[in-house]
Amino acid sequence: MENPPIKMVPNAVVLQSEELVEYILETSVYPREPQLLKELRNATSTHPLAFMGGSPDASQLLALLLKLTNAKKTIEVGVFTGYTLLLTALSIPDDGKITAIDVDRKAYEIGLPIIQKAGVERKINFIESQAIPVLDKLFEDKANEGSYDFAFVDADKVNYLNYHGRIMKLVKVGGLIVYDNTLWGGTVYWPEEAVPQGKRPLRLSVMEFNKKIAADDRVDISLVPLGDGSTICRRLR
Ligand code: SAH
Ligand code: CA
Repeated sequence: MENPPIKMVPNAVVLQSEELVEYILETSVYPREPQLLKELRNATSTHPLAFMGGSPDASQLLALLLKLTNAKKTIEVGVFTGYTLLLTALSIPDDGKITAIDVDRKAYEIGLPIIQKAGVERKINFIESQAIPVLDKLFEDKANEGSYDFAFVDADKVNYLNYHGRIMKLVKVGGLIVYDNTLWGGTVYWPEEAVPQGKRPLRLSVMEFNKKIAADDRVDISLVPLGDGSTICRRLR
């Protein structure tokens, strides 16, 4: 069926307003952001790669999704200093577990004292490694197949499709997978020449991922334009 013509696109105005993002943050996000998450954000702010830290608005949605789905057994691919990891740990029940994978333990150690202070370190199994071999190892164990309630993927965008293939086997039917940064600074629709050289290669990976995920009939999806864009997927079969 052909797509009906679009007459009005209110989002075209809404999505590009910096002031509106500020409004959302000041009105709905910061007043409810747990103190220790603020502290972790603060501890990250002097890191040269601080921009990689989770966007508080998109993360707030993540927390809501974790609670809505009663997620207990989760995976995080790409931890950095642990903003979304701490947020996940605070959102799952006492006996919840997070398998958290990152190649960079040093960055994780910036957030770790705050995670400890929050009393949620016992929920976290941090694995310092490239993500693909860890995921491969996880589903070698049949007991892990379809056993995860939730996955958050936020590591190297060039591997998102590789992660998707694997995580679809680990997350249960009805479970959620959230992919972060799927609007790649808004560059996904720009003409190539307008995109800074440094952003081009990964932008292509993100665009390819967005196309493939939209065509994947094994998942329901929604690309939410909060933060840098998050694609929420629900495994259907
Ligand atoms: N989820 C974090 C941000 C993650 S930033 C937050 O919201 O605060 C992306 C992280 O992915 C970086 O820490 C980087 O070290 C990690 N990463 C990149 N490539 C990876 C790979 N191949 N395997 C595992 N981690 C990787
Ligand atoms: Ca991210």
